[in-house]
Amino acid sequence: MSTPTADARLLFAGRPIREVVDELTQEIRELYTADEVPWVVGYSGGKDSTAVLQLVWTALRELPAEQRTKPVYVISTDTLVENPVVALWVTRSLESMRAAAAEQGLPIEPHRLTPELKDTFWVNLIGRGYPAPRPKFRWCTERMKIRPSNSFIRRVVRRHGEAILVLGIRKQESQARARAMARHEKRRVQERLSPNANLPNSLVYSPIEDWSNQEVWVFLEQVANAWGHSNTELKAMYMSASEDQECPLVVDNTTPSCGDSRFGCWTCTLVEKDKSMVAMVNNVEERKWMTPLMELRDKLDVTGEEEHKLRDFRRMNGSVQLFGERIIHGPYTQEARETWLRDLLEAQTWVRANGPEEVRDLELVTMEELHEIRRQWVFEKHEVEDSLPRIYRATTGEDFPGRPLDEHLTLGADEMDLLREACEGDDLLFSTARELLEVERKFRTMTRRSGLFEALERTVKNGFFENKEDAHAYALQKKKLRDQIADHLPLTDEEEDADAPA
Ligand code: SF4
Repeated sequence: MSTPTADARLLFAGRPIREVVDELTQEIRELYTADEVPWVVGYSGGKDSTAVLQLVWTALRELPAEQRTKPVYVISTDTLVENPVVALWVTRSLESMRAAAAEQGLPIEPHRLTPELKDTFWVNLIGRGYPAPRPKFRWCTERMKIRPSNSFIRRVVRRHGEAILVLGIRKQESQARARAMARHEKRRVQERLSPNANLPNSLVYSPIEDWSNQEVWVFLEQVANAWGHSNTELKAMYMSASEDQECPLVVDNTTPSCGDSRFGCWTCTLVEKDKSMVAMVNNVEERKWMTPLMELRDKLDVTGEEEHKLRDFRRMNGSVQLFGERIIHGPYTQEARETWLRDLLEAQTWVRANGPEEVRDLELVTMEELHEIRRQWVFEKHEVEDSLPRIYRATTGEDFPGRPLDEHLTLGADEMDLLREACEGDDLLFSTARELLEVERKFRTMTRRSGLFEALERTVKNGFFENKEDAHAYALQKKKLRDQIADHLPLTDEEEDADAPA
């Protein structure tokens, strides 16, 4: 942890902090009053974005009221799986900001951004069955962080023609960040103002790009928080965790993986362990209630053969695909998805019952997400036994507040149990028969049934294997045949040229 105990002569190139801050706030005022382009400040609740917002706030406060006209939007993305302590901190900070801005007559508007329902962590993992994120399949950042902030900025650009994005990015964050910033520097329109490579008609302003960690902390310690949220508490939150990074507002892929950082999602499997959460739980007795969350994260982090057992041997579209001679596994099986849901709701129920007052209503998964997961299971995956309400009741002790789906379904839960029994433990046969019935139901009410036979054929093709081994053998056989055919095909002109002696 970098603390502000370092020799002050080594900080800010030996200049007094007051002078550095005055110079920067003057620069901010000049930039703000230079045109009508609205500003969007990225705020994650961490130290860098707090420092930047504090500088902007101070600069604006010192302007005459008639010059504080253009809007400054403060955006904060909440993935809905943020570390709950940090999420609570950010929510309260945004509330203080809204009140303080109104009181001080500043055109600062905080916005909490969340992913679209189809893009949330649980809808994808439990609903669709996407495996927990990995470096080679990092499906989360784009959906949960980049899209919400970029679509907000795009809306501002559409309305006002342009936007300036104010970020707490610093060259010292990582080598990748320093390289990206150096690249953009070449195309700068003025100092610390670069074109945004990802969004047209927007510029990025980075007032603290040259600051070190220690300089940020010294600033936060010496200059009181402008909207009345405590910087001392912010520091305490950092100190209760263990390392130096924060999860920044992610607007592009050069932003360091929040998976490496201290305040990322509590579900993140891109890190070996969520060190920040482990440290928070170990260091602060009152945070022991987060233990079930850590345990669930660790369960999600299973790899190798153990993980393969949780995943279908077919891809999302039902096909069997190989990488070399090995099967490429698909989404989580129905059983695995149901287990994740059970574990998640149990953790939520436990935290609500045993956690402190402030987390008595904690939503690890929202009701909207649960409705969408149910819809995915029943209508996209044809799991018409509709098990979500049953799981919800068993884990929370309450009835699921949704209408029965029976009127839309071919058969009810009892009939599904009978079908399962008739299939004598053959899960593949059961899921294929269930899907065939559902395909037939879907087409029943249509006046023109075009596409019915193709849909039935697809279902039969995806389910005609005896088991995974049979599917694997079939895929290998198919590959062999394809290779043999390719070997006997006449060479193309290009291949003949390539084979010819030089
Ligand atoms: S913290 Fe981890 S899970 Fe969350 S968006 Fe970043 S990489 Fe994905």
